[in-house]
Amino acid sequence: MTGRDGQQPLLACVGMDRHLVARCASPGCERAAPCDPTIWVAQGLGGLPLGAFSERLRCVCGSRRGRLVMESGPFPEVRESGGLYVFR
Ligand SMILES: [Zn+2]
Repeated sequence: MTGRDGQQPLLACVGMDRHLVARCASPGCERAAPCDPTIWVAQGLGGLPLGAFSERLRCVCGSRRGRLVMESGPFPEVRESGGLYVFR
């Protein structure tokens, strides 16, 4: 599974065996949270590369940039956000 720096399309990173994690891009902020891209897919943005969504993430530290990375395994059941939010 390659895919450097968010070039994969969003939809390629969503499935039963994979999910997205948003990581804050602010230096020194280690926050990360599972990211549910349903709203973006519903808007027809599923074909955009992951990197296109970096400015649609918000962190409780005030950062307006994040980084989406694909992780293996199903989407976690936890409902707490971990401090990052999807911004529509
Ligand atoms: Zn942050």
